Amino acid sequence: MLKIGSHVSMTSPDYLLAAIKESVSYNSNAMMIYSGAPQNTRRIPVSRFKINEAQAYMEEVGFNPENIVLHAPYIINLANTTKPEVFELAVEFLDKEIDRALEMGINKIVLHPGSHVQQGEEVGIAQIIKGLNRVLDQRESHNIVIALETMAGKGSEIGYNFEQLKAIYDGVNKKQHIGFTLDTCHIHDAGYNLDDFDAVLDEFDEIIGLQHLQVIHVNDSKNVRGARKDRHANIGYGEIGFQQLLSVFYNPRLDHLVKILETPWIDNKPPYKEEIESIRQQTFDPMLFEKVQASE
Ligand code: FE
Ligand code: FE
Ligand code: ZN
Repeated sequence: MLKIGSHVSMTSPDYLLAAIKESVSYNSNAMMIYSGAPQNTRRIPVSRFKINEAQAYMEEVGFNPENIVLHAPYIINLANTTKPEVFELAVEFLDKEIDRALEMGINKIVLHPGSHVQQGEEVGIAQIIKGLNRVLDQRESHNIVIALETMAGKGSEIGYNFEQLKAIYDGVNKKQHIGFTLDTCHIHDAGYNLDDFDAVLDEFDEIIGLQHLQVIHVNDSKNVRGARKDRHANIGYGEIGFQQLLSVFYNPRLDHLVKILETPWIDNKPPYKEEIESIRQQTFDPMLFEKVQASE
């Protein structure tokens, strides 16, 4: 069965409960949340997240809590070697993020590996390894997997090819806590050809191993292959294409993994209910924008 959802926000006052309800309203059976704003590190206490209420609600509607993933904020940068406080903030934040995930009963944390800020890829990769080891080495008996995301390669981002991600994996001591997130917009922008998605999976399998994949982000891209831009488009409305993305959603090798949409809102409205409907129908919806615009 297709496990599909979108990123949703935890809004006051119901937080996790609100996120689950929003996901259910999109006909999702999976979801991704941030523990606060994705672009800052301010966080309210987990005790206010309405976790018990959310779990009761999930039970009631049959939403599998294993299909929830947490995304670390994209401003933390474990690869930074020029400003010690930036690196320290990333280490500390990730450590606390693990606590928050454990309290919410989530076991997958999506993380952008980081940007080397003009210090070179090798320096950046070594710093990411150092940071991940700092976070993971001192922690015993937990089931959290940090799912490093494939990146588009904009700026000095690390993780725009599978080799770099493998190099990080190789340097981490507690490898059982490292996994990967494949983002279709990012790999397309990084130069991988999604016209033959199975060949991309073969390459991932050869370099990293498909068994390490934890999460799939499915987004179309506003830019041509190799553009290294990272601008997401709605499914079927970008340079990757609807059929190509269906071959991701319905790939039997990824059947067990959650597929998360991070596609852009349309006129300040979330498009996920309509997008998920067209994905479930496996039919491109030429009226997607009009339908979302007309929705309440
Ligand atoms: Fe991401
Ligand atoms: Fe993503
Ligand atoms: Zn992106």
